Amino acid sequence: MDFALTDDQLAYQKMARQFAQKELKPNAAEWDRNSHFPVDVIKKTGELGFLGLYTNPDYDGLGLPRLDSAIVFEELAWGDTAIAAYISIHNMVAWMIGEYAKDEVRSDIVPKLVSGELLASYCLTEPNAGSDAGSLTTKAVKEDDGDEGYYILNGEKTFISGAGSTDILVVMARTGDAGAKGVSAFVVDAHSDGISYGKNEQKMGWKAQPTRTIHFKDVKVPAKNLLGSEGEGFKFAMKGLDGGRINIGICAVGTAQAALETALTYVQERKQFGSAISKLQSVQFKLADMLTQTIAARQMIYLAANKVDNKDVHATTYCAMAKRMATELSFDVANQALQLHGGYGYLNEYPLERHVRDLRVHQILEGTNEIMQVIVSRKMLSEGALDSLR
Ligand SMILES: Cc1cc2nc3c(=O)[nH]c(=O)nc-3n(C[C@H](O)[C@H](O)[C@H](O)COP(=O)(O)OP(=O)(O)OC[C@H]3O[C@@H](n4cnc5c(N)ncnc54)[C@H](O)[C@@H]3O)c2cc1C
Repeated sequence: MDFALTDDQLAYQKMARQFAQKELKPNAAEWDRNSHFPVDVIKKTGELGFLGLYTNPDYDGLGLPRLDSAIVFEELAWGDTAIAAYISIHNMVAWMIGEYAKDEVRSDIVPKLVSGELLASYCLTEPNAGSDAGSLTTKAVKEDDGDEGYYILNGEKTFISGAGSTDILVVMARTGDAGAKGVSAFVVDAHSDGISYGKNEQKMGWKAQPTRTIHFKDVKVPAKNLLGSEGEGFKFAMKGLDGGRINIGICAVGTAQAALETALTYVQERKQFGSAISKLQSVQFKLADMLTQTIAARQMIYLAANKVDNKDVHATTYCAMAKRMATELSFDVANQALQLHGGYGYLNEYPLERHVRDLRVHQILEGTNEIMQVIVSRKMLSEGALDSLR
């Protein structure tokens, strides 16, 4: 067992850190304040391969392992949580299309997603189907037979990241009976007739990326845009989310690392009672816990990524454990970093309040942390599973 990063991993880490240092970190506060979605900067990451990190190399993706991809996402999130998290969602969609779309569709679209010519959104959640995503009611009805036909899409997706600024949607819609097995997934042109967008939601964090409801009214989707076969959509959506949860977890870790670095500098500069507050043992102990939590969170994500890379039977369970643990520990680290700044931590002249606001949603999306507990405990209670979960 070797915990050291390889030369390649170190090279990707350095490239991502340099990009974040130059393009993301200096602008993150302003993008947050103005709710600005920097599409031009996001597209630039395509030149580095960061828009198709683990996407199929047959369609121009880098085809990196999830672990290597996580290393890149962490550095991007160190620069800007909201933008890194959007890039991670784009990667999830590019991977899904590269993996499950028909050749004709993926060879056309995936290279454009990888280069940044097109941006993508993932559309699962509905107003009445959040955690219980398998109960979704957006409907796709097939007209004509065979591959030459098309589906008519009707329904509504809510909380969609990037919506209104993206070009390609992967939409989970019902083609069959009630339940997860009646769900199919489609590649949909975001500019199709019949698609309309709600307002940009006013959010606590992730202000630098838009979140909108998408309405589908008699939207015509070519039958060839179906991913896999009818009824496989929920399975694909969940496969996408295994990687997605690694990404959302590691973006939390990158933010925790940024908060920790800021706090470490601050406590050595800030003087109270005649000396730097870093001389106080309670501050030192807090710092020690923050570093321990950040490293523990990172390692748990690496372990889950390794399980996905090795197609481990328990990969989904590890992703759920890692997502919950990393997002909760990282949120706590950012919150403690804010506390160490006293009143200044509460001002938006400092990055801490943004880090805390941005990280809160990581405990909610791509499956709430309670749903992560459902996934883990369900597996534990299945016969014999605990023996192999070690
Ligand atoms: C900023 C933002 C961006 C998002 N981006 C996207 C996106 O790009 N694409 C997309 O499809 N979705 C997206 N989402 C949606 C997100 O995935 C959902 O909000 C999330 O899955 C929870 O669904 P819900 O909000 O309907 O909450 P609900 O499912 O109504 O949950 C409410 C509460 O009940 C708890 N709960 C529900 N069921 C159980 C259970 N069985 N056991 C224990 N507790 C339970 C939950 O944990 C939660 O605390 C985004 C959300 C936000 C806030």
